Amino acid sequence: SFRLAAWHSCLFVASTLLIFIVAYMMVSSSLERRDRDAIEAKLNEYAAEYQSGGLEGLKQKVIFDSQHMGKTLFVSRVARPDNTTLYLRAPGSWKFDSKQLEHEGIAAKQWTHIPVDDSEDDGDNDTDRLEVAALRLPDHTLLQVGSITEERDDLLERFAAIYAGLVVPFLALGLIGSSFLSFRAFRPIRYLVDSLRSIVATGNLSARVAVDGNSEEVDELSGLFNSLLDKIEALIRGMKSSLDNVAHELRTPMTRLRGVAELALQPEASSQLLRDALANCLEESDRILTMVNTMLDISEAETGAMKLSMESVNVSQLVEQVVELYSYVAEDKKIAISTTVPKELCVTADRNRLLHVLANLMDNAIKYTPDGGKVDLTAVPNREEVVIAVTDNGVGIAADERSKIYDRLYRGDKSRSERGLGLGLSLVKAIAEAHQGYVEVSSEVGHGSQFALHLRAGPLS
Ligand code: ADP
Repeated sequence: SFRLAAWHSCLFVASTLLIFIVAYMMVSSSLERRDRDAIEAKLNEYAAEYQSGGLEGLKQKVIFDSQHMGKTLFVSRVARPDNTTLYLRAPGSWKFDSKQLEHEGIAAKQWTHIPVDDSEDDGDNDTDRLEVAALRLPDHTLLQVGSITEERDDLLERFAAIYAGLVVPFLALGLIGSSFLSFRAFRPIRYLVDSLRSIVATGNLSARVAVDGNSEEVDELSGLFNSLLDKIEALIRGMKSSLDNVAHELRTPMTRLRGVAELALQPEASSQLLRDALANCLEESDRILTMVNTMLDISEAETGAMKLSMESVNVSQLVEQVVELYSYVAEDKKIAISTTVPKELCVTADRNRLLHVLANLMDNAIKYTPDGGKVDLTAVPNREEVVIAVTDNGVGIAADERSKIYDRLYRGDKSRSERGLGLGLSLVKAIAEAHQGYVEVSSEVGHGSQFALHLRAGPLS
């Protein structure tokens, strides 16, 4: 705010100075014009007088003028063609070197300035100037008429003094005013900085900057900071709970692994028990590995680091592949699978990843549908996209659970009895979004669920 006030003042001083220079020049030139017009008029008058009444006539006119002119006084000089003075008359109080008027080469109408000391002036020590115009008459006589610039100089001096007298208090007022205004204007910013500084210092992410409604821009900035803090807080909370979940989910297989190894290390363990223990260890470590790999896949897909080899994929063939994969499991549970997919329908996607996504949806549909149920796989073109839907008539998902099913390691309460890691839908969502698509769920508890995958359409095959 200090710098802003300093800039304001500099600008103010510069513009004031500029206005002063322009005004001074305008006033000075108009005063000069006025004086010169008066001198020229007198010169022409004397020239006419000289031509009609000769030198004597001019002398009388000059004497008459000096007695009747009042304040406006003139110096008059008549010189021979060789520039020697014939007649010179000047007010008695003007002290100047008359030789300077005989300056060689004075041409007609040429203006000369010579220093003059006026003993009658107001006591200032300045040397005034005598402004003299010259006119060469037809008989080559030189006529010079001049006047003192004292009045003009005084006026200009007074003008400068008044201007300075006005500018200095205005400048001081402007400085104080602009310092105050910029201090006030920056107050919300200082408040914002203080609030943020305290948030940074305390690490208290639940603190928010107050929006006081005094300044629209700063309020907007505060609002944005608050929403940024909301997002950071939500992200950190999400990361914390993810980490807790991972630790929790890893602890179960690790404890089991340890238990099996402990059992196998008993001295009386038979070779069959050892073999079983090793098989169990393998199973548990596979589970851990799958979990870690899936989590890595989700992160890669979410951060955009996942490499996708995009191609045109025929949906009907892909769906057939998935149905084939799950035909045995479905048969076990007597679940009827039906498909409705136009033969030529294609999407632009990574074939293996898309297969993985559909397999996850299919796996869930079969898992969460009781024996004897049914699962439908359909695909329909919808403008620029293709919607692939997996519908079951299983247990359904409660409304309050629907927002959580995509969270990492989230498992529905009723799903605990089923195998699973709680990562399937997170991966489905991440891969769909990596394809610039999305997944939608609609469900009714006790009646079934539908997961619809929206993907960009590919060229027809
Ligand atoms: P899980 O390994 O538990 O299947 P997912 O991420 O695939 O993990 O699914 C998360 C949760 O969403 C499941 O635990 C389950 O509660 C619910 N869910 C997913 N698909 C279905 C479905 N087709 N029917 C009912 N609930 C489902």
